[in-house]
Amino acid sequence: MAQVDGPPASAAPGQPCVSKLVLLGSGSVGKSSLALRYVKQDFKTVLPTVGCAFFTKVVDVGASSLKLEIWDTAGQEKYHSVCHLYFRGANAALLVYDITQKGSFHRAQQWLAELEKEFAPGEVVVMLVGNKTDLGEEREVTVQEGKEFAESKGLLFMETSAKLGWQVCEAFAAVAHELLQRHKAGAGPTLPGGDAVDLNSGPARQVKCCAH
Ligand code: GDP
Ligand code: MG
Repeated sequence: MAQVDGPPASAAPGQPCVSKLVLLGSGSVGKSSLALRYVKQDFKTVLPTVGCAFFTKVVDVGASSLKLEIWDTAGQEKYHSVCHLYFRGANAALLVYDITQKGSFHRAQQWLAELEKEFAPGEVVVMLVGNKTDLGEEREVTVQEGKEFAESKGLLFMETSAKLGWQVCEAFAAVAHELLQRHKAGAGPTLPGGDAVDLNSGPARQVKCCAH
């Protein structure tokens, strides 16, 4: 498993800030597929089981850039637990459910409760992601349900299709944007020891596409 020692430090001059983003959600909702789509612009119906996959990607947001360390589980989510190391030092989380599986939406709500146990309010940027919109005919969770839950908890919200590459880049970009906002505010999670500010508290919103 990749190791991260403590919270990411503020960037050296000229270097992008580094933030740790964890993927959370039930098995088979498309977490690994979202990471693969975002980092490699690829999609596979069968993904190899690896230890704990770890990707990095530098995201440009306007004149600033941010290095995202994207942590993906190796299927531990099937046992309804991931280790504390996985959460440790996280600055952001994508809370993923499958729009065709109501149970995965309920499970996302439980994952949020786990996150709330580990972190103070506003310490982590959380985005709720309803994946597999290409399977619209099998939809069990409405956009409204996703949006309302996100709003009630102050989360960012977006629906995606890792298969079609729809809104995947936008979802990660929105999180990166929020992380940079915090960094600029001087109290964000990318600064060691800073006071947390709840910038998740605004309404669920959509961010326009990044450059891919
Ligand atoms: P994980 O267990 O959450 O990491 O889920 P995976 O990324 O391994 O995906 C589980 C299955 O769902 C795989 O067969 C993927 O090909 C499929 N999948 C993932 N994202 C999408 C999507 O957006 N649309 C469709 N139709 N299938 C998807
Ligand atoms: Mg996976």
